[in-house]
Amino acid sequence: MLTVLQRIVEAVNQAPDLDAALRMIVQKARAALGSDVCSVYLADHEQQQFVMMATEGLQLDENERVTLNFGEGLISLAAQREEPLNIANANEHPNFKLVESVGEEAYRAMLVAPIIHQRKVLGVLAAQQKKARAFSGEEEAFIVTLAAQLATVIAHAEARGLVSGHYSPWLRNLNGLPGAPGVAIGQAFIGRPAATLSSVVPRRTEYPWREIHKFRKAVMQTRMELRALADQVADYVAEDTLAIFDVYQSMLDAASLGDAVEAKIKDGWMAQTAVKMAVEGFVAKFEDLDDSYLRERAVDIRDLGQRVLSFLQEKNGLQHNFPDTCILIAEEVTASMLAGVPRKKLQGLVSLQGSANSHAAIMARSMGIPAVFGLSDVPLSYLHDQHLIVDGYSGEIFVNPPAQLIQEYEVLRAEEYELAEMVAEHRDAEACTLDGVPVSLQINAGMNVEHDQERLGHYEGIGLYRTEIPFMMRERFPTESEQYELYLSVLKSTAGLPVVMRTLDVGGDKPLPYFPIHEDNPFLGWRGIRMTLDHPEIFLVQVRAMLRANIGIDNLQILLPMITSLDEVDESARLINQAYFEVRNELLQKDRNAHISRPKIGVMIEVPALLYQLDAVAKRVDFFSVGTNDLTQYLLAVDRNNSRVAGIYDNFHPAVLHALQFIMQRCAALQKPVSVCGEMAGDPGGALLLVAMGYRKLSMTTHNLDKTRWILRHVDSKTMHILLSQVMQATHPDQVRRLIRIKLESLGLGGFVRAGK
Ligand code: PEP
Ligand code: MG
Repeated sequence: MLTVLQRIVEAVNQAPDLDAALRMIVQKARAALGSDVCSVYLADHEQQQFVMMATEGLQLDENERVTLNFGEGLISLAAQREEPLNIANANEHPNFKLVESVGEEAYRAMLVAPIIHQRKVLGVLAAQQKKARAFSGEEEAFIVTLAAQLATVIAHAEARGLVSGHYSPWLRNLNGLPGAPGVAIGQAFIGRPAATLSSVVPRRTEYPWREIHKFRKAVMQTRMELRALADQVADYVAEDTLAIFDVYQSMLDAASLGDAVEAKIKDGWMAQTAVKMAVEGFVAKFEDLDDSYLRERAVDIRDLGQRVLSFLQEKNGLQHNFPDTCILIAEEVTASMLAGVPRKKLQGLVSLQGSANSHAAIMARSMGIPAVFGLSDVPLSYLHDQHLIVDGYSGEIFVNPPAQLIQEYEVLRAEEYELAEMVAEHRDAEACTLDGVPVSLQINAGMNVEHDQERLGHYEGIGLYRTEIPFMMRERFPTESEQYELYLSVLKSTAGLPVVMRTLDVGGDKPLPYFPIHEDNPFLGWRGIRMTLDHPEIFLVQVRAMLRANIGIDNLQILLPMITSLDEVDESARLINQAYFEVRNELLQKDRNAHISRPKIGVMIEVPALLYQLDAVAKRVDFFSVGTNDLTQYLLAVDRNNSRVAGIYDNFHPAVLHALQFIMQRCAALQKPVSVCGEMAGDPGGALLLVAMGYRKLSMTTHNLDKTRWILRHVDSKTMHILLSQVMQATHPDQVRRLIRIKLESLGLGGFVRAGK
């Protein structure tokens, strides 16, 4: 049976379209079961009917729509019960309903399995036999397994609008992942790279130096083009986002891409071929990584390679006729592709591949461009030139929507603009609740050094500086002096305000390309402090670099990730102490009057075990910072990157909320400062609940800063407390979300959690 199943699944996966796949399924399933009939019905929720899509054995006229209303027949019964039905004589069953036009009257035995994807019944698969008989257990297991496999195929087709597209006047909405909030209405424009690596035919050369010269010239032209693109967007993109172009520039450096390409040329390959080989080599390495952030970098490298290639092929400078209301669509939208569209015309962005982690998503957010990612089942050509509505809050895309829907979204969009303007006007205001309770808002950084303080408005330092990104962007561990330079620029750019630098938190979903860790459960494995304590040479170098950079600036605080036990705190403190005395002695040898201060040391609360050791840890450290991203993952035992269980991962799960409240209460009793630096701190509802619990320091990505400040300034503490007490009674995250939404709507702040004002 297993081989038969595998063969069917392979054949179905290769079918050109859904109809062909369904026809193949019924043919092969009938043969495998030895039944007289096998049919597949799909649910049409708009019409409230099951539609026979394919059959082997019954007579289905191509132009005829054979249906059963929801609730009718054994088909509906199996769907309703969400379990298989195995009925020896269907005619005698009270729910039996004969579908006459297809010649069903001749059949007695019936075996029906519902096709269910992510708890939703998509249809049923049914086998019938003339002779009245019960199907065997093995046959039943077979059809159930096949239906489960079919569910994925149908769900993908449904995502492409292929299922209900047969019957709807307009194509229903497609569902992607929200990438950047906002609403966009416009015309799809397919962005294609100017030159493609895949189309380069490998060729050799006898004149490598000539090719190296060509390559270097192309690199120079690419650099100039990138600079021009960066200038083009500089006015409306935050400084730290512009760093993407610096990253591109540094990838072009000899030490990165440059050397690899030139080595290939010296091996006798032409420049174009060498670029293709080197870039594809890098891309393959990055795409192989588990970490979603790094996988996204593969897109940047390919984009960069194709830019260089276009100069080598002298194909650059293509002028596009962008529609006036342009929704940029691409297999993989890249940051530079995004920058290439005139800002005035650019309304929205859809990237079939990629996620909210991509540079394009980061850039879209900082440009305020609504974006949706991850529509991998939709062919690009299908969206070409179509009129679209892009809802960056829900991840929905409406293809050729009716006028009424467009009007509704136009109103929502106008309201959005108003809201954004209003919020930005108050960016210099202090963050406090409506009744004046001050809340310190900080930023999470790590992508880049500089922050345009003016553009960011009022904030009170860096609450989390993730140091792993610079480690990931290299081909080896950075040296002490490389780290020193980097940390120095971070501390300097935020002088006068605290900067919480976290020690290396690699492992889990953030492996280092040059230090691979192979584990079955990386999130439960050698991660964060566990790894660095096993490698004191890495830990000490990092801490020394931080301490040296802090000399004379004095705004450093050190944060330890993934702490589970007291001995980890003690050992880290011992090493930090050692590094401190080393740096101090070195300094005093140079200047006897020099001063070096000891930074505060904090611990991340992200492993639930720490909740039960707060008192003991508090005695050893200066502050706590709650990492809600990991705390949620570990408390709920749900991998934060696994899309299959993404529905369970929820900051508003009652267990998470109770844990957060407990942490705040204990820290207050212990008089130990505590902040929150996970994503929840920058979520409108999350921020309200955290402040109501007593948290007074929230650290978030820069794009959430204005919004959070505004919301806090418009809700008084009493209202927050009432909301909190209601929320703490909730038994389900959806209930929590509903309560937050109702409250925000009642305060006229609903526009922060959905489209519109
Ligand atoms: C967290 O876990 O909430 C956190 C801030 O750290 P990271 O997302 O880097 O794991
Ligand atoms: Mg974490």
